Amino acid sequence: MAEDLATPPESSDPRRGLPSVTVLLESPRIQTLIAEYSRPLAMDAIRATLDGFRRDAATGSQPLSPDEVVREIERRLLSEEKERLRPVVNATGVILHTGLGRAALPQRAVDALASLNRCVNLEIDLGTGGRGKRNPATEALLTTLTGAEAAVVVANNAAATFLILAVFAAGKEVIISRGQMIEIGGSFRLPDCIQQSGATMVEVGTTNKTHLCDYENALTENTAVILRCNPSNYRIVGFTQSVTNAELASLKKQRPFILVDDLGCGALVNLEAYGLPREPTVQDSVAAGADLVCFSGDKLIGGPQAGVIVGRMDLIAQIKKHPLARMVRVGKLTNMALEHTLRLFLTPETLAETNPTYRMLATPVAELRRRATRIKKGIVKRGVALNVALEEAQSATGGGTLPATPIRTCVLAVACGAHSPDRLAALLRGNEPPIIPRVAGDKVLLDMRTLLKGDEKIIVEALARIASSSAGV
Ligand SMILES: *Cc1c(COP(=O)(O)O)cnc(C)c1O
Repeated sequence: MAEDLATPPESSDPRRGLPSVTVLLESPRIQTLIAEYSRPLAMDAIRATLDGFRRDAATGSQPLSPDEVVREIERRLLSEEKERLRPVVNATGVILHTGLGRAALPQRAVDALASLNRCVNLEIDLGTGGRGKRNPATEALLTTLTGAEAAVVVANNAAATFLILAVFAAGKEVIISRGQMIEIGGSFRLPDCIQQSGATMVEVGTTNKTHLCDYENALTENTAVILRCNPSNYRIVGFTQSVTNAELASLKKQRPFILVDDLGCGALVNLEAYGLPREPTVQDSVAAGADLVCFSGDKLIGGPQAGVIVGRMDLIAQIKKHPLARMVRVGKLTNMALEHTLRLFLTPETLAETNPTYRMLATPVAELRRRATRIKKGIVKRGVALNVALEEAQSATGGGTLPATPIRTCVLAVACGAHSPDRLAALLRGNEPPIIPRVAGDKVLLDMRTLLKGDEKIIVEALARIASSSAGV
């Protein structure tokens, strides 16, 4: 601030014309911004704005009026506000969109989270008053639902895979098929994960075909783990061959090793009930003899980000004792949200009502058409100049799940004469709350499948506002 007060008045000074911080602070508009955004955030914006103008001035731009400076400070505060984590309307049609936080949480989980303004019995034994287990209820649910002996929850599935390998395979060998060396969005690459864990990767088979004998021939006294990995975000089609958990488990008669199945999506129910192809379930893997199975909490469970490991009691106990387990454990928020999401799977027949991920998967196209029609009517009623048309299209599950399975959907294709599709999409994202559409060629598409309660009204209002404000230009 002192620096600004000391700004010399010579006309050659490139900062000439810029108001000082002190002068700005006297402006009623700045005082309002401070009241709205807090003093620290407003001060940061003032300084950053003045710095920006000084750099411009140094390159010879025009001097500015104090009003222009204030407007720029306001613009900066507003755009920073937009970066804040907050609800958006998912009109992408991607049900588990990693960029949109994957699963929308079930109301039951959200209600449970609201109780966290009080203390909880996270790790206390209510009987003895001493230290207890960390959320045994979630682990008990997981064993009930999957048929496994024991379970542990960690930060995410990448951490789960890494932890398993670090505990059991460091300094030893991990056998993996060349057809299952996955990369999951956001830079999770299985070969890197294996290397970081201290294990040595032994690749077997080919990209499209791996046989039981390939694994068999690679087994040595150094083998610690055979790792199966669900190709959850891609498919190898044509002449393919992979080896099942049951076949791999049969090799345990020859040599001891731990069979690990990284399922990724972690379906707990048969997705055929939702008109989708059968995705391997956690129960299948456990029953087929996988010693440890890991999966994400925010893919087909539809819960919070988490990594779940289920499997043999002795192995889970070893994992829990390892120092790394402490570093990737989850807090009470995740525990609470995951427990209440898992409870919904105890009555799987109501999942389409209770779990938004399943609601999105299950909604019939006819219902999606009705949604689109209602939105279209709402827009027509407002008499704005917008071109909206119902179209059939395909949604995706996303989050690296069911890659080859597009789901039929209904979209609203929106065109606004005044704007290019990219511009219109940007305006929708600039709405409050932001609406995230997808742009396909020269069209902006609003996919009805991923909409939640209340979204129809938000879309109608946003489109009406965009159309009427561009009608004037
Ligand atoms: C998604 C996925 C992962 C990574 O899980 P995150 O929960 O995103 O860390 C690992 N393996 C497979 C097979 C996956 O599908």
